[in-house]
Amino acid sequence: MRFATKAIHAGQEPDKATGSVTIPIYQTSTYAQPEPGREGPYVYSRTANPTRTALEENLAALENGRYGLAFSSGMAATTTILMLLSKGDHVIAADDVYGGTYRLFQQVLSNYGLSFSYVDARNPAKVESAVRENTRLIWIETPTNPLMKIIDIKKTARVAARVKAMLVVDNTFMSPYLQNPLDHGADIVVHSTTKYLGGHSDLIGGATVTSDRKIQERLKFLQNAVGPVPGPMDCWLILRGVKTLAVRMERHDANAARIVSFLQEESRVERVYYPGLGNDEERNIIKRQMRGHGGMISFDLKGGFDACKRLLKRLRVFTVAESLGGVESLIEHPASMTHASVPRNVRLERGIGDGLVRVSVGIEDVDDLLADLKSGFQAL
Ligand SMILES: *Cc1c(COP(=O)(O)O)cnc(C)c1O
Repeated sequence: MRFATKAIHAGQEPDKATGSVTIPIYQTSTYAQPEPGREGPYVYSRTANPTRTALEENLAALENGRYGLAFSSGMAATTTILMLLSKGDHVIAADDVYGGTYRLFQQVLSNYGLSFSYVDARNPAKVESAVRENTRLIWIETPTNPLMKIIDIKKTARVAARVKAMLVVDNTFMSPYLQNPLDHGADIVVHSTTKYLGGHSDLIGGATVTSDRKIQERLKFLQNAVGPVPGPMDCWLILRGVKTLAVRMERHDANAARIVSFLQEESRVERVYYPGLGNDEERNIIKRQMRGHGGMISFDLKGGFDACKRLLKRLRVFTVAESLGGVESLIEHPASMTHASVPRNVRLERGIGDGLVRVSVGIEDVDDLLADLKSGFQAL
């Protein structure tokens, strides 16, 4: 089956008992056992729940993986992956990972005996030179957040394989519609389903997908032992969101391309960050591993934080908010919002300036979005 068909059908058969076309919301914590100790497929909903199972099978199919697991948030999925490691292990991460991921690594997991190095992972040689004897995991996002750097998944996977480390790719920005990291050698894909997969800014969720049976068994054990599971209602909402992922991503992608052209002509914009605006090498990587450019754009505004405040205040269709990937267009100022937990000197060193603005382009009529931006720029 092709993507748009899998999005609607994978993991979901009409209900055998009632014919219900959509998977029921199994709002239950526990399951009757025919005899003490003789368990059916479901025992207790921390371990498994049928609505969650449908979502897990669906997401695995969309990522071309064998196994999926749904979590209560993207951070819960990330934390559970890091629990595959033990005290003393070392992790290499790309240097502009999601702010919450950086905070988890630096302010939580560093206290549990894990150590972290951050490198510009666009250059696989830099990843390789950061490898230590105890390196067990390499963590990347591509495109990166918020500077939209493109990392070559296949080349990074080769480094990981050579040093026997796992490669994890956070695929939240692209969604499985535009990129499938497992196809390029990643061991685990992680998603914040809060974003494009849910797609409607109405829930918090996360997921992992892998084709490695051992990794899956350990993640499943950890998920049950630690307990970061989503409720059935949220799983159902994600399944509902995913059904329209293909059509939504087409529109996100098309709208973003139009807005990029507008921003490139705007004199008060110093620089636009968007996949495909880099050099030939970057465009070649994009051709190999992406099927579009997505709906995320960042840009440097002349005039720093003050100019950003004036622009954001004037907008009417764009909502000033963190998060991304919903049907509605959102705009934010990383330095004071999503990346406020990154120390200023580290943030500036990584190129996230005080005048950087990040946009999650929604699926509204693009002419309304452009008119709103035009009026915003007039306020500067
Ligand atoms: C939002 C986000 C996360 C964290 O997910 P939550 O669902 O908010 O916990 C991780 N990675 C990326 C790229 C994100 O955008």
